Amino acid sequence: MSYNVAVDGPAGAGKSTIARAVAERENLIYVDTGAMYRAMALFLLRSGVDLEDETQIAAKCQEAKITIRYEEGVQVVVLNGENVNGFLRTEQVGDAASRTSPVPEVRKNMMKLQKELAEENDCIMDGRDIGTRVLPDAQLKIYLTASVEIRARRRFEELAAKGEICDLAQIQADIEERDYRDMHREISPLVQAADAILVDTSSMGVEEVVERICEQIRRQKGR
Ligand code: C5P
Repeated sequence: MSYNVAVDGPAGAGKSTIARAVAERENLIYVDTGAMYRAMALFLLRSGVDLEDETQIAAKCQEAKITIRYEEGVQVVVLNGENVNGFLRTEQVGDAASRTSPVPEVRKNMMKLQKELAEENDCIMDGRDIGTRVLPDAQLKIYLTASVEIRARRRFEELAAKGEICDLAQIQADIEERDYRDMHREISPLVQAADAILVDTSSMGVEEVVERICEQIRRQKGR
């Protein structure tokens, strides 16, 4: 049986940075499920469908084949044969992912792929519904969060470091809107699983969070 760690939490909580570091240290595969929803959103944006129209999305998403592969430990998201990693981490695609991910047809195939990956590999998987829906039997569940002000500030600094001009207040408003959508949708809303460990990273550094999770993993594995 594979060993699975589920990491959920709101936008900008540091899930991918933390999960990637834990994966490296504990020899797990890192599965970024947000990237899969982002790839679907990219496909829908490119197709020009109306993102407010659930019927159009439900029909169009059937034409997207999303798979993932690993190149030197890095997850590559493949959309209809194209490596789309370079297009996924923009605010526009993140926003579109949050608007299109509530559509059941969008979630169905993603969930199947995510479950298969976790069955076949020891992995740490991050997202919104991993501990609650995708991997309810994961050996370890973490709910990673931080105050919205801190998350907005981190995202602002990340974008500024890439030379992108942005407005802190706008980033915070976008994050709040995205959290609201993710937490209040009908299917698979973001919620802390009853058996998840809450880690509030507001006043913690990356290393401290990574070490706290690795410690839990080592304890479970009896190391
Ligand atoms: O984590 P990330 O910001 O990349 O996720 C983008 C969007 O994809 C989220 O706002 C959410 O709507 C959706 N998502 C989801 N379920 C997951 C992972 C991401 O609905 N497991």
